[in-house]
Amino acid sequence: MEFATKAIHVGQEPDKTTGATIVPIYETSTYTQPAPGQHLGFDYSRTINPTRLALERCLASLENAQHGLAFASGMAATAAAMNLLSAGDHVVVTDDLYGGTFRLFDKVLARYGLTFSYVDATDIHTVETAMRQSTRMIWLETPTNPLMKIIDIAAVASLSKAWETLLAVDNTFATPYLQNPLDLGADIIVHSTTKYIGGHSDAIGGFVACNRDDLFQTIKFHQNSVGGVPGPFDCFLTLRGAKTLALRMREHERNARAVATYLAQRSDIEKLYYPGLPAHPGHEVAKRQMRGFGGMISFIPKGGAARAKAIAKATKIFSLAESLGGVESLICHPVSMTHGAIPQDVREARGVHDALLRLSVGIEAEADIIADLDQALKK
Ligand code: PLP
Repeated sequence: MEFATKAIHVGQEPDKTTGATIVPIYETSTYTQPAPGQHLGFDYSRTINPTRLALERCLASLENAQHGLAFASGMAATAAAMNLLSAGDHVVVTDDLYGGTFRLFDKVLARYGLTFSYVDATDIHTVETAMRQSTRMIWLETPTNPLMKIIDIAAVASLSKAWETLLAVDNTFATPYLQNPLDLGADIIVHSTTKYIGGHSDAIGGFVACNRDDLFQTIKFHQNSVGGVPGPFDCFLTLRGAKTLALRMREHERNARAVATYLAQRSDIEKLYYPGLPAHPGHEVAKRQMRGFGGMISFIPKGGAARAKAIAKATKIFSLAESLGGVESLICHPVSMTHGAIPQDVREARGVHDALLRLSVGIEAEADIIADLDQALKK
């Protein structure tokens, strides 16, 4: 079955008792059992819920994964994947990543005895140099948030195999429509479904996919023991969003290419980060491991932080807001928003500049999107 068909059908057979075509919202915490020790596969909704199960099966199929688990947020999914590790374990992490992931690693998990080394994973030798005997996991984002670096997943996967470590990839920016990290050798995929998969900026959610039974069992045990599960209504919204992921991603990408081309020909842009541009250092790797370049663009306008803030304030179609991946266009000033949790010196050393702006290009009409940027860049 192809992607668009799986998104609409996998895990979503008509309801057995009513024939409902759409998976119902099973808004129940518990299930009546015919006799002690006997139930119909469902006992308590922290452990299992039919709406959540439909979502998990559908998203797992989109990642070509054997197993999938849904969580209450992308961060809950990340925390669940990190639960595969124990005190004393070391993790090599891509240095450009979502600020909230950095905060979880640096402020929460470091207190539990995990150690982290942040490297520019676009250079495989840098990753190799950071490996230690205690390294148990490599954590990647690609494309990275917010600098849109592209990391060669297959190259890092073979290094990870040689060291017998786990490779986890946050696939939020690419989505399974454009990239399937398990097929490239990764062991674990994490998503913030809040973004493109949900796609309508109306539900927070997360997802973990893997092929190995042992990893699945441990993460599922964590899902039930810690309890960071999404409610049935949020699962319904996310599943409804996933049905149109293919359609939406094509439009996001088409509009993002047009915006990148528009920004590239302006003389008042200092730096532009979009992997679809041939000048992007990761363009060739992106062409190899992705089926498109996605809808995210970052740029630094000339004129420093003051001009960047003026632009972010002046857009009308682009809302100044955190998050990404919804149908509507968003503009973000990472330093004061999504990446505010990263200390200034660390952020600056990694190239996350005060004047950096990030665009989540929506699926409004291309001409309106460009006209909006055009009027804002005149400020
Ligand atoms: N991973 C990436 C790449 C993100 O951009 C985000 C949120 O912005 C997350 C994970 C966390 O997801 P959530 O906000 O759903 O917890």
